[in-house]
Amino acid sequence: MTLTDPTSPSAPGALPDDPARTYALDRRHVFHSWSAQAALDPMVITRAEGSYVWDGEGNRLLDFSSQLVNTNVGHQHPDVVEAIAAQARRLATVAPQHANDQRSEAARLIAEHAPGDLDRTFFTNGGADANEHAVRMARLVTGRPKVLSRYRSYHGGTQTAVNLTGDPRRWPNDEGTAGVVHFFGPYLYRSHFGAADEAEECGRALAHLEQVIELEGPGTIAAILLESIPGTAGVMLPPPGYLAGVRELCDRYGILLVLDEVMTGFGRTGAWFVSDEEGVVPDLLTFAKGVNSGYVPLGGVVMGERVAGHFADRPYPGGLTYSGHPLACAAAVAAMTVMERDGVVEHARRVGAEVIGPELDRLARRHPSVGEVRGRGVFWAVELVTDRASRTPVAPTGGSSPGMAEAVATAKSLGLLPFTNSNRIHVVPPCTVSDDEAREGLGILDRVLSRVDALVAAES
Ligand code: PLP
Repeated sequence: MTLTDPTSPSAPGALPDDPARTYALDRRHVFHSWSAQAALDPMVITRAEGSYVWDGEGNRLLDFSSQLVNTNVGHQHPDVVEAIAAQARRLATVAPQHANDQRSEAARLIAEHAPGDLDRTFFTNGGADANEHAVRMARLVTGRPKVLSRYRSYHGGTQTAVNLTGDPRRWPNDEGTAGVVHFFGPYLYRSHFGAADEAEECGRALAHLEQVIELEGPGTIAAILLESIPGTAGVMLPPPGYLAGVRELCDRYGILLVLDEVMTGFGRTGAWFVSDEEGVVPDLLTFAKGVNSGYVPLGGVVMGERVAGHFADRPYPGGLTYSGHPLACAAAVAAMTVMERDGVVEHARRVGAEVIGPELDRLARRHPSVGEVRGRGVFWAVELVTDRASRTPVAPTGGSSPGMAEAVATAKSLGLLPFTNSNRIHVVPPCTVSDDEAREGLGILDRVLSRVDALVAAES
């Protein structure tokens, strides 16, 4: 971006939405997440609507990332925007010890959709702190110190949440693991157990988990914390019976089950919650993102009597200034109301079953660089490999490669904003994506995959 001094407020055109100024100020003053700062080249986003965003040069991009997999009702939904504006005029903030109508109503709506008897919500600012509090609650309820979580998972960037995380983002943050022990979860495409099919993968993964429990000492384990479907780590759908099997192990050993539905919750998979769909009731369920599509930061922990009852007569030692912030909760009430009224969850399921799934299967057959596609609803991963026999990933876990960088650049140049991680492209548009928009994005993905095929062929 070239302006004489775009950071100077007196520069010509120095309006708040001047993309050149935004970019220059960002590079000078903003410290970004998870990145070496020097080489960053962030895209300026100036506006968004529905399934699209616009960059600083006025290009429209189809958002197949839902940003960080959170804009479940799409961008700038008028009902949600208006609810935030109306709430800001009425009561913009209030301390968490007071009741406020938006928090009460958001908690009621969440209880209505959460599985089993989970009917009480402790609100947080996002997903990581929801997991921090769920773990704290589990430790206090059981009096036990350890928590088990799986490799190939992401639970957030705060200290306990990043310790629980099972991907390379944990490595540089892994001092003081705070009693976290990792185990292998089911992932048939790269089976850790040498399994041949889903049933074998399920049985062996559960046997492995039980061994870990026995060797760690069941009496030391407060909780098993799992993403109901690992998201950023690769959208690995659990084989039938796996989550129920983990629930059963938890019951057998007096361990609490915490399901992290931060990414999967509120329609992403074509269900309100995966746990509900699978008939598995955790002791604690964590959420964020889709609860209000991320219009205002919000997360939380939903619990039933087993946990809430423990704190009936003894104080829960934890809290936040913004626990149930009225703007965030007004956005949640509006987003959930839109989802109920417009059948957004059912739509996500149908568009996954009728458009995205079949089209991705077709792309997988056409492109030799595609090792596997998997997912449901608007929650899919396309795994890219150098060859199908060896299943060698085109980029290492947690890293990138020229091929992946080229895939992202090609997608953007063709008008698609993708979500990528390691050797995968995730297809995670808003739950409200239309059939035509989904086809448009998958058509661009087809061209991106042709480019990856050519690169892979040239390197081999
Ligand atoms: N848990 C899961 C499954 C996530 O995908 C994420 C974020 O991507 C988190 C927790 C952390 O949420 P937040 O970034 O809101 O703290």
